[in-house]
Amino acid sequence: MNRGAIAEINLSAIAHNLEIVKRVSKDSAVIAVVKADAYGHGCREISKRLIKEGVSYLAVAYTGEAILLRDAGITAPIIVLFDREDIEGFFDFDLVPVIHDITTALALSRVARGRRTTIKVHVKVDTGMGRLGLSSNHLIENLVKIADMEGIELAGLMSHFSDADLSDRSYAAVQLERFNKIREALFKKLNKKIFSHIANSAAALAFEDAHLDAVRPGLMLYGYSPLGQNKNTEPINLIPAMKVKTKILCIRNLPPDSPISYGRTFVTKRRSKIGVLPVGYADGYDRLFSNNAEVLVRGRRVPVVGRICMDITMVDLTEVEDVREGDEVVILGQQGDESITAHELACKARTIPYEILTSLGSHSRKEYIYPVRKGGFLTGQMFKERR
Ligand SMILES: *Cc1c(COP(=O)(O)O)cnc(C)c1O
Repeated sequence: MNRGAIAEINLSAIAHNLEIVKRVSKDSAVIAVVKADAYGHGCREISKRLIKEGVSYLAVAYTGEAILLRDAGITAPIIVLFDREDIEGFFDFDLVPVIHDITTALALSRVARGRRTTIKVHVKVDTGMGRLGLSSNHLIENLVKIADMEGIELAGLMSHFSDADLSDRSYAAVQLERFNKIREALFKKLNKKIFSHIANSAAALAFEDAHLDAVRPGLMLYGYSPLGQNKNTEPINLIPAMKVKTKILCIRNLPPDSPISYGRTFVTKRRSKIGVLPVGYADGYDRLFSNNAEVLVRGRRVPVVGRICMDITMVDLTEVEDVREGDEVVILGQQGDESITAHELACKARTIPYEILTSLGSHSRKEYIYPVRKGGFLTGQMFKERR
Protein backbone atom coordinates (compact mmCIF):
# COMPACT_ATOMS: atom_id res chain seq x y z
CA MET A 1 0.00 0.00 0.00
CA ASN A 2 1.28 3.44 -0.86
CA ARG A 3 1.18 6.12 1.77
CA GLY A 4 1.24 9.81 0.89
CA ALA A 5 4.93 10.53 1.30
CA ILE A 6 7.76 9.55 -1.01
CA ALA A 7 11.41 9.52 0.03
CA GLU A 8 13.53 10.30 -2.99
CA ILE A 9 17.03 8.94 -2.44
CA ASN A 10 19.91 10.37 -4.43
CA LEU A 11 22.48 7.60 -4.83
CA SER A 12 25.01 9.96 -6.38
CA ALA A 13 24.94 11.95 -3.12
CA ILE A 14 25.80 8.74 -1.27
CA ALA A 15 28.75 8.19 -3.63
CA HIS A 16 29.86 11.80 -3.14
CA ASN A 17 29.67 11.55 0.65
CA LEU A 18 31.68 8.33 0.55
CA GLU A 19 34.37 10.17 -1.41
CA ILE A 20 34.53 12.68 1.44
CA VAL A 21 34.81 9.88 4.00
CA LYS A 22 37.71 8.43 2.01
CA ARG A 23 39.35 11.85 1.66
CA VAL A 24 39.25 12.61 5.38
CA SER A 25 40.16 9.10 6.51
CA LYS A 26 43.03 8.68 4.03
CA ASP A 27 44.54 5.19 4.39
CA SER A 28 41.94 3.75 6.74
CA ALA A 29 39.43 1.25 5.38
CA VAL A 30 35.75 2.18 5.41
CA ILE A 31 33.14 0.18 7.31
CA ALA A 32 29.85 1.66 6.12
CA VAL A 33 27.14 1.55 8.77
CA VAL A 34 23.83 0.62 7.12
CA LYS A 35 21.82 -0.35 10.20
CA ALA A 36 18.16 0.71 10.55
CA ASP A 37 17.58 0.25 6.82
CA ALA A 38 20.58 2.49 6.06
CA TYR A 39 19.25 5.23 8.36
CA GLY A 40 15.93 5.03 6.54
CA HIS A 41 17.43 5.27 3.02
CA GLY A 42 16.92 1.59 2.10
CA CYS A 43 19.75 -0.78 2.97
CA ARG A 44 19.81 -2.83 -0.25
CA GLU A 45 20.18 0.01 -2.75
CA ILE A 46 22.49 2.00 -0.49
CA SER A 47 24.70 -1.00 0.24
CA LYS A 48 24.96 -2.00 -3.41
CA ARG A 49 26.05 1.51 -4.34
CA LEU A 50 28.54 1.76 -1.47
CA ILE A 51 30.11 -1.57 -2.44
CA LYS A 52 30.33 -0.43 -6.05
CA GLU A 53 32.12 2.71 -4.85
CA GLY A 54 34.65 0.66 -2.89
CA VAL A 55 33.72 0.32 0.78
CA SER A 56 35.44 -2.67 2.38
CA TYR A 57 32.80 -3.69 4.93
CA LEU A 58 29.17 -3.11 5.79
CA ALA A 59 27.89 -3.00 9.36
CA VAL A 60 24.31 -3.74 10.46
CA ALA A 61 22.68 -4.14 13.87
CA TYR A 62 20.93 -7.48 13.43
CA THR A 63 21.51 -10.76 11.62
CA GLY A 64 18.16 -10.35 9.83
CA GLU A 65 19.39 -7.14 8.22
CA ALA A 66 22.55 -8.90 7.04
CA ILE A 67 20.46 -11.72 5.54
CA LEU A 68 18.45 -9.17 3.54
CA LEU A 69 21.72 -7.92 2.07
CA ARG A 70 22.91 -11.44 1.24
CA ASP A 71 19.53 -12.08 -0.45
CA ALA A 72 20.14 -8.96 -2.52
CA GLY A 73 23.33 -10.58 -3.83
CA ILE A 74 25.81 -8.65 -1.69
CA THR A 75 28.89 -10.77 -0.99
CA ALA A 76 31.06 -8.19 0.85
CA PRO A 77 31.96 -8.83 4.50
CA ILE A 78 29.11 -7.83 6.82
CA ILE A 79 29.70 -7.03 10.48
CA VAL A 80 26.73 -7.67 12.79
CA LEU A 81 26.95 -5.19 15.65
CA PHE A 82 24.25 -6.11 18.15
CA ASP A 83 22.96 -9.66 17.69
CA ARG A 84 23.72 -12.85 19.57
CA GLU A 85 20.47 -14.75 19.03
CA ASP A 86 21.03 -16.36 15.67
CA ILE A 87 24.42 -18.06 16.04
CA GLU A 88 23.76 -20.50 13.19
CA GLY A 89 22.86 -17.54 10.94
CA PHE A 90 26.38 -16.11 11.33
CA PHE A 91 27.75 -19.30 9.77
CA ASP A 92 24.99 -19.88 7.21
CA PHE A 93 25.35 -16.37 5.78
CA ASP A 94 29.07 -15.89 6.26
CA LEU A 95 28.74 -12.94 8.65
CA VAL A 96 31.20 -11.34 11.06
CA PRO A 97 29.60 -11.11 14.51
CA VAL A 98 30.69 -8.57 17.07
CA ILE A 99 31.19 -10.32 20.41
CA HIS A 100 30.57 -8.47 23.68
CA ASP A 101 30.96 -11.32 26.15
CA ILE A 102 32.71 -14.62 26.78
CA THR A 103 29.46 -16.63 26.77
CA THR A 104 28.72 -15.77 23.16
CA ALA A 105 32.32 -16.51 22.20
CA LEU A 106 32.00 -19.99 23.77
CA ALA A 107 28.73 -20.64 21.94
CA LEU A 108 30.31 -19.59 18.63
CA SER A 109 33.33 -21.78 19.25
CA ARG A 110 31.07 -24.77 19.97
CA VAL A 111 29.10 -24.32 16.74
CA ALA A 112 32.29 -23.71 14.74
CA ARG A 113 33.81 -26.94 16.03
CA GLY A 114 30.60 -28.83 15.20
CA ARG A 115 30.74 -27.48 11.68
CA ARG A 116 34.52 -28.04 11.42
CA THR A 117 35.03 -24.44 10.41
CA THR A 118 36.46 -21.18 11.70
CA ILE A 119 34.51 -17.96 12.09
CA LYS A 120 35.98 -14.47 12.02
CA VAL A 121 34.77 -12.27 14.87
CA HIS A 122 35.33 -8.72 16.02
CA VAL A 123 35.38 -8.15 19.76
CA LYS A 124 34.00 -5.00 21.28
CA VAL A 125 35.57 -3.47 24.37
CA ASP A 126 33.89 -0.84 26.53
CA THR A 127 36.22 2.15 26.81
CA GLY A 128 33.66 4.41 28.49
CA MET A 129 30.43 4.41 26.50
CA GLY A 130 28.85 2.12 29.12
CA ARG A 131 26.72 0.26 26.62
CA LEU A 132 28.26 -2.94 25.26
CA GLY A 133 31.65 -4.57 25.20
CA LEU A 134 34.03 -6.45 27.45
CA SER A 135 34.68 -4.39 30.56
CA SER A 136 38.05 -3.63 32.09
CA ASN A 137 37.91 -6.61 34.51
CA HIS A 138 40.47 -9.17 33.30
CA LEU A 139 40.12 -7.59 29.89
CA ILE A 140 43.36 -8.72 28.28
CA GLU A 141 43.01 -12.23 29.73
CA ASN A 142 39.50 -12.45 28.29
CA LEU A 143 40.61 -11.21 24.89
CA VAL A 144 43.41 -13.77 24.79
CA LYS A 145 40.97 -16.47 25.88
CA ILE A 146 38.69 -15.60 22.94
CA ALA A 147 41.61 -15.43 20.50
CA ASP A 148 42.68 -18.93 21.63
CA MET A 149 39.25 -20.53 21.28
CA GLU A 150 39.06 -23.26 18.69
CA GLY A 151 37.03 -22.27 15.64
CA ILE A 152 37.35 -18.54 16.38
CA GLU A 153 39.58 -16.08 14.58
CA LEU A 154 39.93 -12.76 16.37
CA ALA A 155 39.82 -10.60 13.24
CA GLY A 156 38.97 -7.24 14.76
CA LEU A 157 38.88 -5.15 17.90
CA MET A 158 36.46 -2.27 18.26
CA SER A 159 35.02 0.29 20.64
CA HIS A 160 32.58 3.18 20.42
CA PHE A 161 32.72 6.86 21.41
CA SER A 162 30.05 8.45 23.56
CA ASP A 163 30.60 12.10 22.61
CA ALA A 164 33.11 12.52 19.79
CA ASP A 165 30.65 15.08 18.33
CA LEU A 166 31.43 17.63 21.07
CA SER A 167 33.91 20.38 20.34
CA ASP A 168 35.59 19.44 23.64
CA ARG A 169 37.18 16.16 22.68
CA SER A 170 38.77 15.40 26.05
CA TYR A 171 36.55 12.43 26.94
CA ALA A 172 36.93 10.97 23.45
CA ALA A 173 40.69 11.30 23.96
CA VAL A 174 40.41 9.34 27.22
CA GLN A 175 38.46 6.61 25.43
CA LEU A 176 40.99 6.46 22.60
CA GLU A 177 43.89 6.27 25.04
CA ARG A 178 42.22 3.33 26.82
CA PHE A 179 41.61 1.64 23.48
CA ASN A 180 45.20 2.12 22.36
CA LYS A 181 46.51 0.67 25.63
CA ILE A 182 44.32 -2.40 25.14
CA ARG A 183 45.58 -2.78 21.57
CA GLU A 184 49.19 -2.58 22.67
CA ALA A 185 48.75 -5.05 25.51
CA LEU A 186 46.99 -7.46 23.18
CA PHE A 187 49.68 -7.05 20.56
CA LYS A 188 52.29 -8.03 23.14
CA LYS A 189 50.33 -11.12 24.18
CA LEU A 190 49.39 -12.37 20.71
CA ASN A 191 52.38 -11.02 18.86
CA LYS A 192 50.10 -9.92 16.06
CA LYS A 193 48.32 -6.69 15.18
CA ILE A 194 44.54 -6.86 15.39
CA PHE A 195 42.51 -4.80 12.90
CA SER A 196 41.07 -2.00 15.05
CA HIS A 197 38.27 0.54 14.65
CA ILE A 198 36.57 3.10 16.86
CA ALA A 199 35.72 6.15 14.70
CA ASN A 200 32.06 7.02 13.98
CA SER A 201 31.26 9.96 11.67
CA ALA A 202 32.16 12.57 14.29
CA ALA A 203 35.59 11.05 14.86
CA ALA A 204 36.11 10.44 11.14
CA LEU A 205 35.49 14.17 10.59
CA ALA A 206 37.21 15.71 13.57
CA PHE A 207 39.47 13.27 15.41
CA GLU A 208 42.19 12.04 13.11
CA ASP A 209 44.11 10.12 15.78
CA ALA A 210 41.10 7.82 16.11
CA HIS A 211 41.00 6.71 12.45
CA LEU A 212 43.19 3.62 13.07
CA ASP A 213 42.73 0.71 10.61
CA ALA A 214 39.17 1.60 9.64
CA VAL A 215 36.56 4.29 10.16
CA ARG A 216 32.94 3.34 10.79
CA PRO A 217 30.72 6.18 9.58
CA GLY A 218 26.95 6.17 9.34
CA LEU A 219 25.38 9.64 9.39
CA MET A 220 27.91 11.41 7.17
CA LEU A 221 27.36 8.90 4.35
CA TYR A 222 23.77 10.11 4.26
CA GLY A 223 24.87 13.73 3.98
CA TYR A 224 24.79 15.17 7.48
CA SER A 225 27.53 16.05 9.91
CA PRO A 226 27.00 15.04 13.55
CA LEU A 227 29.01 18.16 14.42
CA GLY A 228 26.03 20.32 13.48
CA GLN A 229 24.58 22.19 10.56
CA ASN A 230 27.25 24.86 10.24
CA LYS A 231 29.95 22.24 9.89
CA ASN A 232 28.13 20.91 6.85
CA THR A 233 29.65 23.57 4.62
CA GLU A 234 33.05 23.67 2.94
CA PRO A 235 35.46 22.04 3.10
CA ILE A 236 33.28 19.14 4.22
CA ASN A 237 30.43 19.74 1.78
CA LEU A 238 28.28 16.70 2.42
CA ILE A 239 25.15 16.31 0.29
CA PRO A 240 21.96 15.12 1.99
CA ALA A 241 20.73 12.07 0.10
CA MET A 242 17.11 12.03 1.20
CA LYS A 243 14.30 14.27 0.01
CA VAL A 244 10.81 13.62 1.36
CA LYS A 245 7.97 14.93 -0.70
CA THR A 246 4.24 14.67 -1.09
CA LYS A 247 1.47 16.37 -3.08
CA ILE A 248 -1.25 18.77 -2.00
CA LEU A 249 -4.35 16.65 -1.50
CA CYS A 250 -6.81 19.52 -1.30
CA ILE A 251 -6.92 23.33 -0.95
CA ARG A 252 -9.58 24.94 1.23
CA ASN A 253 -10.51 28.63 1.07
CA LEU A 254 -11.55 29.54 4.58
CA PRO A 255 -12.86 32.76 6.17
CA PRO A 256 -11.19 34.43 9.18
CA ASP A 257 -11.77 32.73 12.55
CA SER A 258 -11.79 29.20 11.12
CA PRO A 259 -10.23 26.69 13.52
CA ILE A 260 -7.86 24.13 11.98
CA SER A 261 -7.38 20.50 13.10
CA TYR A 262 -7.74 18.72 16.47
CA GLY A 263 -7.90 20.89 19.53
CA ARG A 264 -8.37 24.08 17.45
CA THR A 265 -4.79 25.15 18.27
CA PHE A 266 -4.72 27.33 15.14
CA VAL A 267 -7.44 29.75 14.08
CA THR A 268 -7.23 31.70 10.81
CA LYS A 269 -6.78 35.44 11.26
CA ARG A 270 -7.59 36.34 7.64
CA ARG A 271 -9.17 34.81 4.59
CA SER A 272 -6.88 31.83 4.18
CA LYS A 273 -5.90 29.22 1.66
CA ILE A 274 -5.24 26.06 3.66
CA GLY A 275 -3.48 23.12 2.03
CA VAL A 276 -4.21 19.61 3.22
CA LEU A 277 -1.27 17.19 2.88
CA PRO A 278 -1.49 13.38 2.93
CA VAL A 279 1.28 12.95 5.48
CA GLY A 280 1.14 12.71 9.27
CA TYR A 281 2.78 11.25 12.31
CA ALA A 282 2.15 7.71 10.97
CA ASP A 283 4.62 8.70 8.22
CA GLY A 284 7.21 9.70 10.81
CA TYR A 285 6.28 13.39 10.56
CA ASP A 286 6.58 14.23 14.25
CA ARG A 287 3.61 15.59 16.14
CA LEU A 288 5.97 18.20 17.59
CA PHE A 289 5.83 19.85 14.15
CA SER A 290 2.28 21.01 14.96
CA ASN A 291 2.21 24.83 14.46
CA ASN A 292 5.98 24.58 14.43
CA ALA A 293 7.56 23.38 11.18
CA GLU A 294 7.64 24.65 7.60
CA VAL A 295 7.34 22.87 4.26
CA LEU A 296 8.30 24.00 0.76
CA VAL A 297 5.68 24.76 -1.88
CA ARG A 298 6.57 26.38 -5.21
CA GLY A 299 10.02 27.14 -3.81
CA ARG A 300 8.67 29.01 -0.76
CA ARG A 301 8.56 28.18 2.92
CA VAL A 302 5.04 27.88 4.29
CA PRO A 303 4.03 27.12 7.88
CA VAL A 304 2.36 24.01 9.25
CA VAL A 305 -0.88 25.11 10.92
CA GLY A 306 -2.78 23.21 13.60
CA ARG A 307 -1.96 19.81 14.99
CA ILE A 308 -0.35 17.11 12.87
CA CYS A 309 -2.85 14.24 12.50
CA MET A 310 -2.12 10.55 11.96
CA ASP A 311 -2.25 10.77 8.14
CA ILE A 312 -2.86 14.47 7.50
CA THR A 313 -1.11 17.81 7.96
CA MET A 314 -2.40 21.31 7.15
CA VAL A 315 -0.28 24.18 5.84
CA ASP A 316 -1.05 27.85 5.22
CA LEU A 317 -0.78 28.56 1.49
CA THR A 318 -2.34 32.06 1.61
CA GLU A 319 0.85 33.79 0.45
CA VAL A 320 1.63 31.37 -2.37
CA GLU A 321 0.38 32.49 -5.75
CA ASP A 322 -0.91 30.08 -8.39
CA VAL A 323 -0.76 27.13 -6.06
CA ARG A 324 -2.82 24.12 -7.15
CA GLU A 325 -3.99 20.83 -5.76
CA GLY A 326 -1.45 18.16 -6.74
CA ASP A 327 1.53 20.53 -6.46
CA GLU A 328 4.70 19.05 -4.98
CA VAL A 329 5.35 19.74 -1.30
CA VAL A 330 8.80 19.13 0.17
CA ILE A 331 8.94 18.17 3.83
CA LEU A 332 12.67 17.45 3.91
CA GLY A 333 15.21 18.48 1.32
CA GLN A 334 15.48 21.04 -1.43
CA GLN A 335 12.98 22.74 -3.71
CA GLY A 336 14.17 25.65 -5.83
CA ASP A 337 16.53 27.77 -3.75
CA GLU A 338 15.07 26.74 -0.41
CA SER A 339 15.83 23.69 1.64
CA ILE A 340 14.72 22.06 4.86
CA THR A 341 17.43 20.04 6.52
CA ALA A 342 17.22 17.19 9.01
CA HIS A 343 19.09 19.50 11.42
CA GLU A 344 16.24 22.03 11.20
CA LEU A 345 13.54 19.42 11.79
CA ALA A 346 15.58 17.76 14.55
CA CYS A 347 15.82 21.05 16.38
CA LYS A 348 12.03 21.52 16.18
CA ALA A 349 11.27 17.98 17.31
CA ARG A 350 13.91 18.18 20.08
CA THR A 351 15.85 15.28 18.62
CA ILE A 352 18.82 14.58 16.34
CA PRO A 353 19.07 14.25 12.53
CA TYR A 354 19.48 10.49 12.93
CA GLU A 355 15.93 10.15 14.24
CA ILE A 356 14.46 12.46 11.59
CA LEU A 357 16.03 10.36 8.81
CA THR A 358 15.08 6.98 10.25
CA SER A 359 11.51 8.13 11.05
CA LEU A 360 10.71 9.75 7.70
CA GLY A 361 12.69 7.24 5.66
CA SER A 362 11.34 4.08 7.21
CA HIS A 363 7.71 5.00 6.60
CA SER A 364 7.95 6.38 3.09
CA ARG A 365 7.84 4.69 -0.26
CA LYS A 366 11.27 5.09 -1.82
CA GLU A 367 12.41 6.24 -5.23
CA TYR A 368 16.07 6.15 -6.17
CA ILE A 369 17.61 8.66 -8.51
CA TYR A 370 20.93 8.71 -10.25
CA PRO A 371 21.50 12.19 -11.61
CA VAL A 372 23.49 11.87 -14.82
CA ARG A 373 25.16 14.55 -16.84
CA LYS A 374 23.61 15.12 -20.25
CA GLY A 375 25.09 17.92 -22.31
CA GLY A 376 26.16 19.76 -19.17
CA PHE A 377 22.80 19.43 -17.39
CA LEU A 378 21.99 17.21 -14.48
CA THR A 379 18.90 15.16 -15.19
CA GLY A 380 17.36 12.58 -12.91
CA GLN A 381 17.10 8.98 -14.00
CA MET A 382 14.75 7.30 -11.70
CA PHE A 383 13.36 3.97 -10.75
CA LYS A 384 10.85 3.08 -8.11
CA GLU A 385 11.58 0.42 -5.57
CA ARG A 386 9.15 -2.49 -5.73
CA ARG A 387 7.75 -3.45 -2.40
C1 LIG B 1 25.60 3.62 14.57
C2 LIG B 1 27.01 3.28 14.84
C3 LIG B 1 28.06 3.89 14.12
C4 LIG B 1 27.84 5.05 13.17
O1 LIG B 1 27.65 6.25 13.89
P1 LIG B 1 27.46 7.66 13.12
O2 LIG B 1 27.43 8.65 14.22
O3 LIG B 1 26.18 7.55 12.39
O4 LIG B 1 28.61 7.79 12.21
C5 LIG B 1 29.34 3.42 14.33
N1 LIG B 1 29.57 2.42 15.20
C6 LIG B 1 28.60 1.83 15.93
C7 LIG B 1 28.95 0.74 16.88
C8 LIG B 1 27.29 2.25 15.78
O5 LIG B 1 26.33 1.68 16.52
